[in-house]
Amino acid sequence: MEIKLDPSRDDLPLMANTSHMLVKHYVLDLEVDFESRIIEGTIVLFFEDGSRFRKQTSSTKETCQLASNKAYKFRTPELCHIPVTNARTTFNVGYSDFVICDKGEEDTSDKDGNHDNQEQASGISSSKYCCDTENHGREDFLLVLDCCDLSVLKVEEVDVAAVPGIEKFIRPSKLTTVSEELRNEIVHELVTLPAVHWRKQLDYFVRCSQAPSCGELFFDTDTWSLQIRKTGAQTATDFPHAIRISYKTKPEGQSVTWTSDQSGRPCVYTMGSPINNRALFPCQEPPVAMSTWQATVRAAASFVVLMSGENSAKPTQLHEGCSSWHYYVTMPMPASTFTIAVGCWTEVVPKKWSSNDLMIERPFPLSETDCRYVGVCSHMEYPCRFQNAAATTQKVIPHRVFAPGCLKGVCQEILLRLLPPCLSAAHSVLGSHPFSRLDILIVPANFSSLGMASPHIIFLSQSTLTGRSHLCGTRLCHEIAHTWFGLAIGARDWTEEWLSEGFATHLEDVFWAEAQQLAPHDAEEQRELRACLRWHRLRDELRNSPEEMQVLRPSKEKTGHVSDSGASVVKHGLNPEKNFMQVHYLKGYFLLRFLARRLGDKTYFSFLRKFVHKFHGQLILSQDFLQMLLENIPEEKRPDLSVENIFQDWLESSGIPKVGQQLGLERTLNERPTFSLPQRDEVTKWMRLNQRPRKRRRREEEEVFEKLLPDQLVLLLEHLLEEKTLSRPTLQTLQRTYCLHEQDAEVRHRWCELIVKHKYRSAYRHVEQFLQEDQAMGVYLYGELMVSEDARQQQLARRCFELVKEQMDRSSVEVVAEMLF
Ligand SMILES: [Zn+2]
Repeated sequence: MEIKLDPSRDDLPLMANTSHMLVKHYVLDLEVDFESRIIEGTIVLFFEDGSRFRKQTSSTKETCQLASNKAYKFRTPELCHIPVTNARTTFNVGYSDFVICDKGEEDTSDKDGNHDNQEQASGISSSKYCCDTENHGREDFLLVLDCCDLSVLKVEEVDVAAVPGIEKFIRPSKLTTVSEELRNEIVHELVTLPAVHWRKQLDYFVRCSQAPSCGELFFDTDTWSLQIRKTGAQTATDFPHAIRISYKTKPEGQSVTWTSDQSGRPCVYTMGSPINNRALFPCQEPPVAMSTWQATVRAAASFVVLMSGENSAKPTQLHEGCSSWHYYVTMPMPASTFTIAVGCWTEVVPKKWSSNDLMIERPFPLSETDCRYVGVCSHMEYPCRFQNAAATTQKVIPHRVFAPGCLKGVCQEILLRLLPPCLSAAHSVLGSHPFSRLDILIVPANFSSLGMASPHIIFLSQSTLTGRSHLCGTRLCHEIAHTWFGLAIGARDWTEEWLSEGFATHLEDVFWAEAQQLAPHDAEEQRELRACLRWHRLRDELRNSPEEMQVLRPSKEKTGHVSDSGASVVKHGLNPEKNFMQVHYLKGYFLLRFLARRLGDKTYFSFLRKFVHKFHGQLILSQDFLQMLLENIPEEKRPDLSVENIFQDWLESSGIPKVGQQLGLERTLNERPTFSLPQRDEVTKWMRLNQRPRKRRRREEEEVFEKLLPDQLVLLLEHLLEEKTLSRPTLQTLQRTYCLHEQDAEVRHRWCELIVKHKYRSAYRHVEQFLQEDQAMGVYLYGELMVSEDARQQQLARRCFELVKEQMDRSSVEVVAEMLF
């Protein structure tokens, strides 16, 4: 293996040798046990080998390789171990050589050093597969899967040829002998079935996944990977293309979080980053391994299983107290996007619609994009919604909301009403929804960010439900935007995070303005205000972070490169600090804002729709976007714009882009924003109040303060945060005037900063509450509590950390602990 990594370092290794074999479909069959905090079951992986998929991408060299593919061998009988011999009696057609193969194959696996679970369970990594390579004169092919913290129990080759009816998939002449080649041929035919047969295909994947084993395979694990080989199989072509892995997760595995929800009931959910799903199931993590999947998950009947799946699954009662849920997807996506959550959540349904609810679907003007592109797609084949005229005009896709019982009311009040207008807004800006449905789950308090988007499911933090609908709406729009940027169009190299976060941040304002049906002038004002807030944040972050972490394309010209086997490392992928940095969101946002302003919104968004149409269902690098953009805009609008310039100014340097400064962005920031004059008045009023001598303070009530929107309030508090001193009565009036502790989490965050900065003790309870209920945002506050060197504040920080650290997400614990101790 080319990449030797010290797991304590910052980079995340992607080990899977996707250049040799590429997974096309996963069938998961899992059982969730909350007692032991273990998910146990099997995963069956269906592969294409390198020569095949490279052939499909029309490389002549590889085609030759395939043509000379004589390397096929019969499997070596002495290594086959078939535990389910009886199953073979149902076998009919000419599989005689198979049956012979069954005989006399004693369990030689142990003496061959197979199934080394004891070793790997105790963390000792061995390399036993090396021991008999010399016997063959040539090394066996090694399939490498990304895997971490899993107890692998068994790896076996699946006898897909044993599935009744499977002979339909192969030409009759090939049915004479059962061999590795035949089985692989069957898998090949199955994974390449035309998209119209997706239902039949899913069905056969399940049947194959349950087929008997035709031999166990050697395996070994180390920190980051599972390595599998079959004696005598020297190339990927000879290697079994359908393998079944029996395994268990470990309670400490980092892909899932076992915790309890806000109603105190147990639940488990996938984390996304930093290590994605490799501690949930062995997989090929590199995004290039785009695959479909289906999963059957069993849990106690009181639990709801939510998952990335096209179908809105309902439970099937298995036996008393246990039910099973089945989900599937037909659109190939990277395994990292797979998401699951199991808990005692309730589905939130509307109380009762009232006529002026946002819920009422408004007649949105039909956008010109609606039907124009129907029929043409450039991705690999799958049943795509862009090709379905009915789907392209669906503004609001079916959606469900799940939450712990205690948050049902607030979800009805806020979230449920926002969903239709936000979905509809996204449709009117970008066209067809790439996915057919959406579940939203309010995740437990320890969720480490405000939201996370996965195919068919969005996680939202409870922090988004506080205050009015503003924070919830903007966040929802952000996550919905990821459906296009991040999911339907993925980054080929994960270091280019801006390709999803920059786009989602830029689009959230556009969607949100549309969802609120703001007049153009109001929409512009809101967008400018948000630009201003983001500029503050970006400037602060650039001051306080290492330069190399401010670069959006850190691998520069090596971006997207992988080793010969397909392995690579994701720069800073494991750095816990990175989770708390927003530079990819913010600089990415400013780049897109800059481009959109340069071209004019109309041109930009019409281009964006074209871009979505061309690249959905595919992976991209920065240059794919920039090149297409520059090709599509009139020359007079881009005299000094080139891909190289944009790389240099925006993507490959630290700090604030030069172009941005030329654009006057810096000025907008340093002088208070000219577009929010009312607010400047408010700041002045507060300063006046603060400077008034004590005895005249009683007249404070006479000052009349304007009502402020949440973003305006945040900006006001940010201004006030720059003041050296704010008197206690000023803080008191401030809080009373705006009911700060009832505002949304963004506002309360600034309020807590003010409390900490001015040691405003009578409001310390607001800080305590924030640290417990808004854990995704509270991390920064710990730092502020500690730097003051005030004993009481430090005590408060430590006390709150003690209360939440057991539940808190791992990288937050790491970062906070460093601040506190
Ligand atoms: Zn398509």
